[in-house]
Amino acid sequence: SRHESVALVVGVTGIVGNSLAEILPLSDTPGGPWKVYGVARRPRPDWNAEHPVEYIQCDISNADETKSKLSKLTDVTHIFYVTWALRFTEAENIEVNNLMLRNVLQAVIPAAANLRHVCLQTGTKHYVGPFDMLDKIEWHEPPFTEEMPRLDCPNFYYTLEDVMFEEVAKKPGVTWSVHRPHQIFGFSPYSMMNLVGTLSAYAAICKHQGLPLLFPGTKSVWESYSIASDADLIAEHEIWACASPKAKNQAFNVHNGDYFRWKQLWKVLAEEFGIKEYGFKESEKPLSLTELMKDKGPVWEEIVKKNNLKPTKLEEVGIWWFSDVMLGTDTVTSSMNKSKEFGYVGFRDSAKSFDHWINQMKSHKIVP
Ligand code: NAD
Repeated sequence: SRHESVALVVGVTGIVGNSLAEILPLSDTPGGPWKVYGVARRPRPDWNAEHPVEYIQCDISNADETKSKLSKLTDVTHIFYVTWALRFTEAENIEVNNLMLRNVLQAVIPAAANLRHVCLQTGTKHYVGPFDMLDKIEWHEPPFTEEMPRLDCPNFYYTLEDVMFEEVAKKPGVTWSVHRPHQIFGFSPYSMMNLVGTLSAYAAICKHQGLPLLFPGTKSVWESYSIASDADLIAEHEIWACASPKAKNQAFNVHNGDYFRWKQLWKVLAEEFGIKEYGFKESEKPLSLTELMKDKGPVWEEIVKKNNLKPTKLEEVGIWWFSDVMLGTDTVTSSMNKSKEFGYVGFRDSAKSFDHWINQMKSHKIVP
């Protein structure tokens, strides 16, 4: 074939999946030229259809469907696993996420004779535990590094790694890498956790109703040093691990490599939405977007209509619980030293990254 590598992006409409769909087909992408298959559960949205990717609609929690649709892809050389499912308890998270990954690997690994590498994306919860355990377990001391032992509590990230190790071992020569981003700055109205999109929807509502843009989080998060992971940077990091001989069978943290303060990004957000009155207001308990935004569905409908936006429901664009967790929980850091030691030197300016993704939301007419 005229392609050097063939990617299967599982979760291609997600926050990193959409970046992979854009970057992999470019002519100068390392390891290429790439042919790209992309899998997601729903019909293909128009903002994803811009990318030259062969789209496969498939529910990977269904073993039969996954087997019949993905075992046909015999030319796949690299799998990018950038998807997940969120359930109520961690026991349920473990069950459904293991099933999804196993379905994909058991369909593709036996069928794809030239499979070389599997990238698994997890995240910083590897070091702090699942959402429902955030303040209940003792962590290792941050900045978190990749070789820190697993915490003594259930975590679907641990069992995803174990499923991958087990399935990959069935085919000699197939390598893997694990990528652990922090809160992701990216574009995808289909993401289950999109902070930039969520804050943009909040800002659009404040602007529309003439309300001040108050920071919905704690004073500590407002003021302290935070880190974030740009979605394009994560995609580049995953592609680097595929193409770099040294980066095989390793786990890596991945973030922008700089620090920012939310009080600085808040100014960027306010300016992007033309809001003059903004900031942090001391109160007994931090403002919660889940609370503030709970009746704003009809307001969002007005905003969509007035500005001729793509039709979306507020609960798809504004993921209030996620913002409340990220801006309401003390910040942690992880180290990029291992990636650098292994030769990865990519970085982003977080303030520019934040602004870039707000503008992507605007130019795709998701927010005004
Ligand atoms: P996402 O929520 O942005 O996208 C998920 C993608 O998977 C979508 O394309 C969706 O359509 C698809 N999908 C969901 N269920 C499916 C199914 N049953 N069958 C087929 N496709 C399905 O994903 P993400 O945020 O990139 O998450 C990937 C990993 O990254 C997760 O482990 C997540 O915890 C982790 N992570 C995310 C963030 C963040 O800020 N979003 C931060 C750190 C770590």
